[in-house]
Amino acid sequence: MPNSRKTPAGPGSRGPLVLDTRTLPRSPGSARTETRTVPAPADLHAGLAGIPEGSDLRLDVTLESVTEGVLATVTAVAPVTGECARCLEPVSQMIEVRCQELFSYEQGAGDADEDGYALDGDLLDLEPVLRDALVLALPLAPLCREDCPGLCAECGALLAQAGPEHGHENAIDPRWAGLRQRMTQGEQAGRPAPEISEESGRGRP
Ligand SMILES: [Zn+2]
Ligand SMILES: [Zn+2]
Repeated sequence: MPNSRKTPAGPGSRGPLVLDTRTLPRSPGSARTETRTVPAPADLHAGLAGIPEGSDLRLDVTLESVTEGVLATVTAVAPVTGECARCLEPVSQMIEVRCQELFSYEQGAGDADEDGYALDGDLLDLEPVLRDALVLALPLAPLCREDCPGLCAECGALLAQAGPEHGHENAIDPRWAGLRQRMTQGEQAGRPAPEISEESGRGRP
């Protein structure tokens, strides 16, 4: 193998997402498919979710020769970890993304297509393409489950564990304390007191 394998990440070094296209004939229509599992690169994060560095990234790659270069079609499956947007409990799930990108044959220095990707000699670096696709696919607000009830607004308890009967009937907003006092006095006078705890949300600014 070339010495570049020993070089740390940098231009020209061959990471696990760099494919060698030498075995792909440069005649339009030729195609090659391979499946590989590679360690996920660092910094695949967005919001509350991310792909842990070094975790298994499973790739199905089809390289196809076209007139202008090599068309890469990639399906990637990656593990995502994060925090539930409602209850902050750990979340883990899998995402699958599919992307397709044309890598042009090198035109010579300075002549590269600025809008697209180019082959570096026979090498095709999937990392920038995959990075974009994976980060876009990360859930912005991951949920531990679709109907996660979140946290109790009063005490911060996990409602999923606390159960549906969890509540704070006795907790009276201080702004309503005076009202309760008047109602309690009314009750003492023989009139039934209305249930105020259900109404206490009304009239809040
Ligand atoms: Zn949750
Ligand atoms: Zn509570």
